Amino acid sequence: MSLTLNMGVEVLPGVGPARAKALARLGLERVEDLLRYYPRDYEDRRKSACIASAPADVPVCLTLMVAEPPRLSRIRKGLELVKVRLVDDTGSLTATFFNQGYLKDALRTGETYVCFGKVEGQGARRQMTNPVCERADKVRFTGRILPVYRLTHGVSNNLLAGLAFRCVEECAAQVEECLPQPLRQAHQLAETEFAIRNVHFPADEDALAVARRRLIFEELFYLTCGMALLRTRRDSAAGLVFRPFAEEDFLKLLPFALTGAQRRVMGEMAADLTSGTPMNRLVQGDVGSGKTMLAAWGAWLAGKNGYQCALMAPTELLAEQHYRSLAPLLEKAGLRVGLLTGAVKGKARKTVYAALELGELDLVIGTHAILSEGVKFARLGLVVTDEQHRFGVGQRSALAAKAAGTPHVLVMSATPIPRTLALIIYGDLDVSVVDELPPGRSPVETYVVGEDKRQRMYNFVRKLVGEGRQAYIVCPAVEEGEEDGDNPGGAGAMKAAVTYAQTLRTQVFPELRVGLVHGKMKSKEKDSVMSAFAAGQLDVLVSTTVIEVGVDVPNAALMIVEDADRFGLSQLHQLRGRVGRGKHQSYCVLVTSTRSQDSRERLRVLSKTNDGFKIAEEDLRLRGPGDFFGSRQHGLPQLGIADLAGDMRVLKQAQSAAGELLRADPGLTKPEHAGLLARVKRLFAEQGDVFN
Ligand code: ADP
Ligand code: MG
Repeated sequence: MSLTLNMGVEVLPGVGPARAKALARLGLERVEDLLRYYPRDYEDRRKSACIASAPADVPVCLTLMVAEPPRLSRIRKGLELVKVRLVDDTGSLTATFFNQGYLKDALRTGETYVCFGKVEGQGARRQMTNPVCERADKVRFTGRILPVYRLTHGVSNNLLAGLAFRCVEECAAQVEECLPQPLRQAHQLAETEFAIRNVHFPADEDALAVARRRLIFEELFYLTCGMALLRTRRDSAAGLVFRPFAEEDFLKLLPFALTGAQRRVMGEMAADLTSGTPMNRLVQGDVGSGKTMLAAWGAWLAGKNGYQCALMAPTELLAEQHYRSLAPLLEKAGLRVGLLTGAVKGKARKTVYAALELGELDLVIGTHAILSEGVKFARLGLVVTDEQHRFGVGQRSALAAKAAGTPHVLVMSATPIPRTLALIIYGDLDVSVVDELPPGRSPVETYVVGEDKRQRMYNFVRKLVGEGRQAYIVCPAVEEGEEDGDNPGGAGAMKAAVTYAQTLRTQVFPELRVGLVHGKMKSKEKDSVMSAFAAGQLDVLVSTTVIEVGVDVPNAALMIVEDADRFGLSQLHQLRGRVGRGKHQSYCVLVTSTRSQDSRERLRVLSKTNDGFKIAEEDLRLRGPGDFFGSRQHGLPQLGIADLAGDMRVLKQAQSAAGELLRADPGLTKPEHAGLLARVKRLFAEQGDVFN
């Protein structure tokens, strides 16, 4: 039987139900999945040698003949040895195999094999241990560059390489070429078949580089096309047309005058909302720039137009905070505001459900609980997600799907993305930037200090608290011993929040009110501690990074981060954004016991600038892509070979190619683009059916 791309992996020899299940864990269900499962690395098995000259320290391939029948011995229960004498023109050696008893019969006297491994010992004592052996007339995994795959329990690299080999041999030619010929020519991209063959079993380094470039390009191309398609679909949908209302009536509700940047974005939003095309806008602004008021503006406009608004935040803490700040404000304007988080249960939850369905609530603020099946809206007109990088493209559209038509969408984010990447990450959105902080804020003064300054730092806490201010102290872990491998138990052992809070209460600040909040607390407990801090009933709040996102206590003027070198710069910048939100001069102290000059230098970037974009770019430069740009973080589809930050040049090429193609065929509806459209959809498949 000949193999085809759509066959299940069970048709492959050696794959029974158990292995099929293990393979499914890697997402490998069909033959084509195996072809698309690109190696994470390669092992070079090309070097060959003869017995006399083989080096002792590097594995090599030798072509050897079995000189006499192998001998099998059982050393003890569970340990079998096969020893065999192998020769070439230059000498002989003994190969020893552990627990591969079948080799006793498989290795035939007089037959020639290619053996790959290290040759140890001298003269008459040349030997190899567990070499890879293949009959010289049937080599697959020796004498070439071998793929190394990501594995799972029950799936070895040998198994995968074997399956991939079979699939490549029989099916690589069947894979449809989805990139149009002119595009391949313009960008000098290899054909699909070549790319698939050589990414698994490269002929040489050059072939591998050519194959990889093609596959990285196509992935980024599909990603860009997908984002652009999402956008075209929404742009061509009929949007709810909001009537305009005078800004002044909204501004009257607020306790302060809005900044120029806030006013400008309000205008951009109003233009979208009244245009007849659905709004799809990202509002990007540094922490503390006042994005919440823009959500309020949207909710107010929606309410005035008789539509409901849903505001979704990534944590309960944040949802509750939005509720506390927005409800009183908008209720003055006659809007009815409800809260829906995981903590809202039983009767209270049913009440919210009913009110939403009956149109008796104008704004619901909550977490992803809003996505629950039971939640139905009477007239959902605007969807706002806060800190969007924590929600996926799919979640965004799941919420939008709760509206009868196509609702307006507003996304707020404080994560500054280097401009080069914004286009792909937010490729389906228009972007507004709130590039101005409310007046009277002086930049947070930031210091990097070592252990030697600890006492001075504690004195500084006492001084500020004496002046009526409050302080945050952030630690990287909840309980002692949760440290990662870098620095176990060393001088920089983590200040675990729990024990640290205890020490501060009893020994360092017995005269101050010290609270503790961490991610493992129940949300009710967290909430009551946070409320106490917000109400000024606590002087110092020790916490893990649960406070990272959006928490707002204007009287807090000091942020201390322990073991600051363990955080990324952007994360530290977010943390720092918790202070400097009121009229008081605020400070951020980054404590580190690292002796690494590089780490300290990295932290000093924060004392030099308050510009989130610059910090993000610095972070990228210093730390490398890492998971900072992991596509998951931004809710993008999982990529198989491309790296959003690492393959920047190819990304730009793919973007311009996608732009050109989509101008000619905006919906990819031409018959010759059917294959391409299918690939794009498949890339986004795990996000749910976002194209319908
Ligand atoms: P972020 O952009 O980080 O979400 P917030 O919306 O939480 O910022 O605003 C930060 C703080 O600034 C809040 O206390 C908010 O009430 C206040 N604020 C927002 N806009 C203004 C303004 N124009 N003038 C004064 N304070 C403002
Ligand atoms: Mg916010």
